[in-house]
Amino acid sequence: ATPTSIMVGTGRAAELGVLFRQGEALQSLKEIGVVALDKTGTLTKGRPDLTDFVAAPGFSETEVLKLVAAVESRSEHPIAEAIVDAAKRQGIPLASTDSFDAVPGFGVSATVGGRKVDVGADRFMTKLGLPITEFVSTADRLGQEGKSPLYAAIDGRLAAIIAVADPIKPSTPEAIKALHALGLKVAMITGDNRKTAEAIARQIGIDEVVAEVLPDGKVETVKRLREKFGKIAFVGDGINDAPALAEADIGLAIGTGTDIAIESADVVLMSGDLRGVVNAIALSKATIRNIR
Ligand code: ADP
Ligand code: MG
Repeated sequence: ATPTSIMVGTGRAAELGVLFRQGEALQSLKEIGVVALDKTGTLTKGRPDLTDFVAAPGFSETEVLKLVAAVESRSEHPIAEAIVDAAKRQGIPLASTDSFDAVPGFGVSATVGGRKVDVGADRFMTKLGLPITEFVSTADRLGQEGKSPLYAAIDGRLAAIIAVADPIKPSTPEAIKALHALGLKVAMITGDNRKTAEAIARQIGIDEVVAEVLPDGKVETVKRLREKFGKIAFVGDGINDAPALAEADIGLAIGTGTDIAIESADVVLMSGDLRGVVNAIALSKATIRNIR
């Protein structure tokens, strides 16, 4: 494309709330074969609610929620906010914590009033040597409902299964249809549970799901999807999306996302949802057509 057509194209994009930080991105976007999407905060609102809480026999729900909320009050994960809000709504006061520790992609731990509390994914419990066998069928059901199951352990005993659900952004299903209409494959990359990810993917028509990806595994996933489908655009919002945004042929950051994601991206979507991805690709194709 000529410099003029690129200027016109990026100007038109800006009117649609799509900011090209790299002029060349407008040209290369038309060559992609797959769009890979981060789940939390990109496809979904990134503001989950607590939906289910089942205490193990011998544990009181209120007591476990109190301990778990105390630990989560120290975490910045969206899941943490959901749990703390639920405790507040039930009028449970936040207890103070000691020796808080977060294990990215796994969960969080702390001591609350002398009791050791761990909260996180099934792989976190496995890492702690706590089998989740008694909750497997509940977890399966929650996953099929598109909810994310978590587990709480108190003093080394499994104490509860907790579910959170993160609503899909209203514009997401339409945007995925539009990407398909442009002839693209659509993939989803998430650290969340496989069953949950697959249930959400089915609802919104995702072609390829890569679940239970650890924070530093997103780059490898982008490389693998590129081998399978060709040039890749990755869309994300979070701190741990930054390396994948840089690795992708085109990185697109959600404008409401973290600064580091925006700084690592070629394109910024000011609308805060996926309509911008569709506009950006459609514009790329139109701009290139114009100069032929
Ligand atoms: P994602 O961005 O897809 O949620 P993360 O790597 O942040 O992926 O988290 C992966 C998983 O680790 C979560 O789905 C959850 O099961 C667990 N986890 C991470 N942080 C917390 C937390 N503060 N409380 C409970 N679980 C957590
Ligand atoms: Mg995210």
